[in-house]
Amino acid sequence: MSRPIVIVGAGVIGLDVALLLAEQGYGPSITVIAEHLPGDTSINYTSPWAGANFSAISGGDANALRWDKYGYQHMMKLAEEHGTEACISKTPSFEYWDELPSKTKIESMSGYLEDFAMLDIKDIPKGCQFGVSFTTITVNAPRYIQYLYRLLQEQYGVQFVRQRLPSIKAGFSDISTKIVFNCTGNGARHLPGVEDAKSYPTRGQILLTKAPQITKNVMRHGKDYETYIIPRPQSNGSVILGGYMQKGVSTGDTFSRESESIVERTTTLLPELLTPGMEVLAAFSGLRPSREGGARVERTSIQLDELRNGILVHNYGAGGTGFQAGLGMARDAVNAVEDVLRSISREKSRL
Ligand SMILES: Cc1cc2nc3c(=O)[nH]c(=O)nc-3n(C[C@H](O)[C@H](O)[C@H](O)COP(=O)(O)OP(=O)(O)OC[C@H]3O[C@@H](n4cnc5c(N)ncnc54)[C@H](O)[C@@H]3O)c2cc1C
Repeated sequence: MSRPIVIVGAGVIGLDVALLLAEQGYGPSITVIAEHLPGDTSINYTSPWAGANFSAISGGDANALRWDKYGYQHMMKLAEEHGTEACISKTPSFEYWDELPSKTKIESMSGYLEDFAMLDIKDIPKGCQFGVSFTTITVNAPRYIQYLYRLLQEQYGVQFVRQRLPSIKAGFSDISTKIVFNCTGNGARHLPGVEDAKSYPTRGQILLTKAPQITKNVMRHGKDYETYIIPRPQSNGSVILGGYMQKGVSTGDTFSRESESIVERTTTLLPELLTPGMEVLAAFSGLRPSREGGARVERTSIQLDELRNGILVHNYGAGGTGFQAGLGMARDAVNAVEDVLRSISREKSRL
């Protein structure tokens, strides 16, 4: 089997690249190589631990604003057309800030979010200075990546290989490989050939709870904390409560003092959690693959031997936004190799 396109990594970032390429007819030319695949759980595999939702937690730079907009529009369409199978849902959302957020960010969001409204100060929690409401996307993260995994194999003919690569160069081990996408998340810090010192984990602890009465997404952005409540689609009333943003912390352990703080903060923010009551089912911890200066989406060239250079597209460092920004990042990554893709055959039926 030839391998013209290799994607290293099967988190949401690698799966999003595979999806965009498969939609353009490249499915049978794609091989995803990953140590962890959807359905696995490991502290070295972030995607199953995400909340997840679309929110204003992302940065305010031009890339982040563009990726968010593209991701929102794509996922809203997916929720309308395949929400049940994909385990994603349109959900009313309320976000509050302890300090005024950037004007650029709010202006950008107000331009495309459905049902966007700025809230009156009397309608926002005490201590907050600003609040908005809109229709967001909530995602059952572990089930959504399993949906993409099935879709890519069954409908688009994408191959998946479970393997831990010893270096990024090893992605080019098949002579037919023309492009490698590096979607290794936290792996980028130590993987030989990448070794990005700007990469670091941001630990988060979350609680999986049962609270079927909660049907809205609520977030409070503090100076040094994030508190959030995310109803999980297609889960019989599960709700994710969070959270923490601990820069540079890499333990996968969970801590009871953090669980207590999460319960205290979320029930203060949304007292409906306590009526008629909620059940805490489990605590999890995950490591957001973060990067100084933001995510790296960049085409580079890598020397493979004296005669051969490989085209390597980096796509990692999504931090706390891989689900909402992943499709926008994937679009930039794919556009960066448009010229090379033209030399790879496509399925005519998808054109
Ligand atoms: C608590 C928490 C809450 C979050 N909430 C949200 C949210 O609400 N919304 C949102 O958008 N995002 C959220 N995120 C962030 C989101 O989960 C991440 O941005 C996203 O999962 C990163 O995906 P990734 O594909 O880059 O990394 P990963 O999911 O970690 O995938 C990396 C892949 O690379 C593979 N890999 C690495 N090294 C190698 C190697 N040497 N050889 C082979 N394979 C390798 C791994 O096996 C894996 O398949 C949250 C994260 C956490 C922890």
